Amino acid sequence: MIPYGRHSIDESDIQAVVDVLRSGYLTQGPQIDVFEKAVAEYVGAKYAVAVSSCTAGLHLAALAAGVGPGTTLVTSPITFVASANAGIYAGAKVAFADIDPTTVNMSVSSLEAVFASEKSVRAVMPVHFAGLPCKMEAIKALADRNNAVVIEDAAHALGATYEDGSRVGSCRHSAMTVFSFHPVKAIAAGEGGMVMTNDEALYRKLLRLRSHGINKGDDVFFSEDAASEDGLPNPWYYEMQELGFHYRITDIQCGLGNSQFKRLPAFLAKRRALAERYDNIFDSWDWLRPAQADQQIQSGRHLYVVRIDFKSLGKTRASVMRELRAAGIICQVHYIPVPMHPFYRDLGIRIEEFSDTISYYREALSIPLYYDLLESDQDFVISKLAALNS
Ligand SMILES: *Cc1c(COP(=O)(O)O)cnc(C)c1O
Repeated sequence: MIPYGRHSIDESDIQAVVDVLRSGYLTQGPQIDVFEKAVAEYVGAKYAVAVSSCTAGLHLAALAAGVGPGTTLVTSPITFVASANAGIYAGAKVAFADIDPTTVNMSVSSLEAVFASEKSVRAVMPVHFAGLPCKMEAIKALADRNNAVVIEDAAHALGATYEDGSRVGSCRHSAMTVFSFHPVKAIAAGEGGMVMTNDEALYRKLLRLRSHGINKGDDVFFSEDAASEDGLPNPWYYEMQELGFHYRITDIQCGLGNSQFKRLPAFLAKRRALAERYDNIFDSWDWLRPAQADQQIQSGRHLYVVRIDFKSLGKTRASVMRELRAAGIICQVHYIPVPMHPFYRDLGIRIEEFSDTISYYREALSIPLYYDLLESDQDFVISKLAALNS
């Protein structure tokens, strides 16, 4: 079977996990720090907080940004539900800005319209769809003008670069950026995520929220009296200062993350080469086109999404997917627009308001793209796609 995406594990990854198991550490150990420092240095951010998942990271980032009851978080309708859920977890209202059909990312003009109608927007969460960075300078400028914080959902975008060449994760145009290390993402840690920031106050808040809201002495204690006696610190003392969570990652996961991170340049190079092979072939097809046409040089190439006008092809998407599956090719649709899920529909969000999202969703199909995909298998995928139109 040729899936739309798959992680790659080699002997170095296996050895890295075995090494952690032999090291005496299981959960809180040195691999976490190594992982945070490595990713921070690579993307050019001052601080990194590794967490149990990107979802957990988005939740903490929303809380740290002051998203809560009485405020609104704006994100893209074409994303995994976790982006929007972060706002709901924090007790906020969630609103959506329609996509730009040429990039499948949040449209800047649509975001502007949301700012005009929503008065209490506290955070904007752009999603770098399929690894293609959003128009961050414009989004940041709009957010600044409206006193909103920018949190980048970079689950697809480890290794991607902005127009100025700096890396996603550097937080040049945001307060915080969150990565995912789920197996279908750029690198795998089993499960895992990381929040990047350049702001020390946010960093300290994230550290505390990651572990129950507890301060173990790395910050000032609130109860001086309980913390020390006769001028000496009480050795057992720690303080829960706010309601946090158990969102820690383990040393085992970070051992794998560190080993995968060393392979990231090879992962990216291969994904880009395979994606360009698709680009070159599809250039001459008139019934199928890449969903994202522009600036692909900046993309992490997390997914390869094509748009097909199924109606004029005379087939349904479901029948195409079944036909491909019978040939051993598993495609997927990224994503069901978040406002279409019953949970969001029942909150009163109307999908009809997002016309570019609707037409994108009608035509989208993610085709296989991953590090271990052989060129011969890719050629097979291309031939099966070509046969759809014969
Ligand atoms: C995968 C994904 C997430 C959630 O990542 P987890 O690490 O699985 O929690 C969030 N946003 C987007 C866009 C994703 O693709």
